[in-house]
Amino acid sequence: PIQVKNLHKSFGDNEVLKGIDLEIGNGEVVAVIGPSGSGKSTLLRCLNRLEETTSGEVLINGENIAAATGNALDRLRQKIGMVFQHFNLFPNMTVLDNVALAPQETKKMDRAEARERGKQLLERVGLGDKADARPAQLSGGQKQRVAIARALAMRPGIMLFDEATSALDPEMVGEVLQVIRDLAASGMTMVLVTHEMGFAREVADRVVFMAGGVVVESGDPATLFDNPQHERTKDFLSKVL
Ligand code: ATP
Ligand code: MG
Repeated sequence: PIQVKNLHKSFGDNEVLKGIDLEIGNGEVVAVIGPSGSGKSTLLRCLNRLEETTSGEVLINGENIAAATGNALDRLRQKIGMVFQHFNLFPNMTVLDNVALAPQETKKMDRAEARERGKQLLERVGLGDKADARPAQLSGGQKQRVAIARALAMRPGIMLFDEATSALDPEMVGEVLQVIRDLAASGMTMVLVTHEMGFAREVADRVVFMAGGVVVESGDPATLFDNPQHERTKDFLSKVL
């Protein structure tokens, strides 16, 4: 599980997260929605320590990643895969090498094992025939599926997605959402920052609405979307639904 306790994050004197409390159970899929600038990406980045927290705790299976150092921090980070809006694949490497690199660099697997596992993951995201292609030869949707396979290569127990479909042409959104949907069904613990409200409703066990650096409300998707309790939630949903 992930337990966020009174998490604060400031950039200089700009307090972006103002005391976030959040619990995400094993296998739970949580969608985070909210206006631009509300702190969604910052929260996600604090979960895997891409961002230093100002105060508070982020417990990953009971261990505070916000305060971890050295090997303990590396070990916690390896439990968490992240996929961003922009794919950041290594352009000079084949698709398979992109996927197989991290497990070798972290000495989790030898080359043969990492490549075998990489091939399986490419099959899983529907790209078994693209192992030897370069990223530049792929569509945006295919690149994003490679990025997901690459994150899965480290065998994370938790996957974080930050607007993984926002940079895609509309006709490619569906294929990436399908991969995320399959992952959710496989029991992966996931936090999805998304502006795809229909998808959040369908795939999430719980939806968290953030505004101004706080969690305004959270609940099961039907309740949150159909019966929001707070004015800010109603106002936001009236603009995006
Ligand atoms: P969007 O929906 O547009 O992606 P968001 O909810 O993800 O927005 P964040 O990216 O978390 O919002 O940003 C929240 C606030 O933190 C913004 O005011 C932003 O300018 C600020 N911020 C984010 N990252 C940094 C940084 N590295 N340095 C300074 N300020 C930052
Ligand atoms: Mg963001």
